[in-house]
Amino acid sequence: MPNSSTIANIQHLLNIVEPSPVQRLQLPEQPNILLDIKRDDRLHPVISGNKWRKLKYALVDAVENKVEHITSFGGGYSNHLHALAFACRQLSIPMTAIVRGDYSQNLTPMLTDILSWGSNIQYVDRKTYQMREDKNFVDSLLKQNANGVVIPEGGSQDSALRGISEIINELENSYDYIVAPVGSGGTLAGLIKGVSGSPTKILGVGVLKGQDYLEGLVTALLPNHGNFSQWQINHNYHFGGYAKSNEQLDDFCQRFHLQHEIQIEPVYSGKMFFATYDLIAKKHFPKNSRVLAIHTGGLQGKRVK
Ligand SMILES: *Cc1c(COP(=O)(O)O)cnc(C)c1O
Repeated sequence: MPNSSTIANIQHLLNIVEPSPVQRLQLPEQPNILLDIKRDDRLHPVISGNKWRKLKYALVDAVENKVEHITSFGGGYSNHLHALAFACRQLSIPMTAIVRGDYSQNLTPMLTDILSWGSNIQYVDRKTYQMREDKNFVDSLLKQNANGVVIPEGGSQDSALRGISEIINELENSYDYIVAPVGSGGTLAGLIKGVSGSPTKILGVGVLKGQDYLEGLVTALLPNHGNFSQWQINHNYHFGGYAKSNEQLDDFCQRFHLQHEIQIEPVYSGKMFFATYDLIAKKHFPKNSRVLAIHTGGLQGKRVK
């Protein structure tokens, strides 16, 4: 059991403000649906949303076990590496980011930040990157630093589910549906675990072309690989693939911001809110449903374009 003073200390060093607020959205054209947003985008300006939730207990473990190095993986635009590198700087833990592809001559804004926070970056080709879960490869990484740990891509590991399921514990109202975007599946798995035993259904919105693949990722993360039936992933709102967008989605994100004064981005939260609005308009949710959308943050990723 982690010590609560370790948690408070990390929250303080990182300047995280929990719990995140819940905000009601007005739907004048859909009076029979209640839509709330869990504003995890407000947890922190850099370690936004689900990346804090997913890393929380990995960081607690690292601090309690006096870990001296953290290695993790991601693409050149990774919100996960960005969040982890910021946290490692605040906690004075040296970090290595293993990045898919060579960006050394054209750094992305995220990689520039990561370097400025003192992390080391290793660029690897696709083939090497594919070995990121291979036990021998992970062992070879562990040998490079004394008392180090390796955190998987996206931070999606067992301890991530615990952090994510705290979203459910923080809720004051009950919901019929909880909607969230799906990338590497950890967030959805944590929500599914969090609502088990209640009638709440979890609806994931796939942000990449990943029918069956995404379901597999989620199932693999669930305790005992499943037997959780109240969830589903909708694959109709990926807009062509990961980080792909079009005018319709970009317009939606802009209008959403103007209307509600809540920023969203087209990679994750934009697709999730687009799907939620579209499904409400198409009467996917029965009359009088209470729906909660999780704003998973990720606004630093807006710099992609
Ligand atoms: C990483 C990320 C996700 C995807 O979460 P997974 O647990 O990888 O499925 C969703 N939203 C935002 C803003 C993210 O940065």
